[in-house]
Amino acid sequence: MLKIIKYPAGILKKQAKEVKEITPDLLRLIAQMEVAMEKNQGVGLAAPQINISKQIIVIKDGGENTKNHAFFNPKIHKKSKKQETDEEGCLSLPGLFLPIKRAEGIHISCNTKEGKSVIIEATGLASRIFQHEIDHLHGKLIIDRITPLARWKIKEELEEIKKKGRVKRK
Ligand SMILES: [Zn+2]
Repeated sequence: MLKIIKYPAGILKKQAKEVKEITPDLLRLIAQMEVAMEKNQGVGLAAPQINISKQIIVIKDGGENTKNHAFFNPKIHKKSKKQETDEEGCLSLPGLFLPIKRAEGIHISCNTKEGKSVIIEATGLASRIFQHEIDHLHGKLIIDRITPLARWKIKEELEEIKKKGRVKRK
């Protein structure tokens, strides 16, 4: 099984490279990413989190079907003015949950597994998950989306992740 890379690994701060070609190897990788996401009860996973600096994300389908979706080279084109704040966690920051402000709706362009380029409109939770995973492709974590004061307040939790691999529930 793929190992999830945790904070403060350097790869999580790197800009990921565009995928130029969808190869059988990449498709196998996606299947493994989906398994890792499921096993860790995540709703999304980005390739840098499994130590691969490429622009690939997988997202769990929140609807009736339990299919997952993989996207290559996702780019956000439009963000709604309306923003919402909600708690977010991250498999690379186990046990840490932070209120993060995100655009309520977004338009994304990306490539699918089949090599098609598509435009996706996402709102609500799906919009939030996309923005979180796309942040990973640009070296950003939820702790980079909070104020310096908020970050100072969680410095003990970050130390705990560094030393023990996760924040223990209080
Ligand atoms: Zn994350």
